[in-house]
Amino acid sequence: MENTNKTYKVNKEKCLGCGSCSLSCPEGTEMDADGKAKVISSAKVEECGGIDLCPYGAIEVENGVEAEETED
Ligand code: SF4
Repeated sequence: MENTNKTYKVNKEKCLGCGSCSLSCPEGTEMDADGKAKVISSAKVEECGGIDLCPYGAIEVENGVEAEETED
């Protein structure tokens, strides 16, 4: 099986609040009070496709396994 130790987060600056991730992976993400998505289960996000769950690249890995930080 693949590594399931990744921790996912939603980059709130990239999230457009489209709701796509919470529709296709309701156990992994949900819409937050601010209208953006939030990760409620990294393991479920992983099952749902990980960063590919967001077509806008707002879902990111935060523990370095697939980090794509763009803060230089
Ligand atoms: S799919 Fe991406 S842009 Fe849409 S709500 Fe989820 S994290 Fe935000």
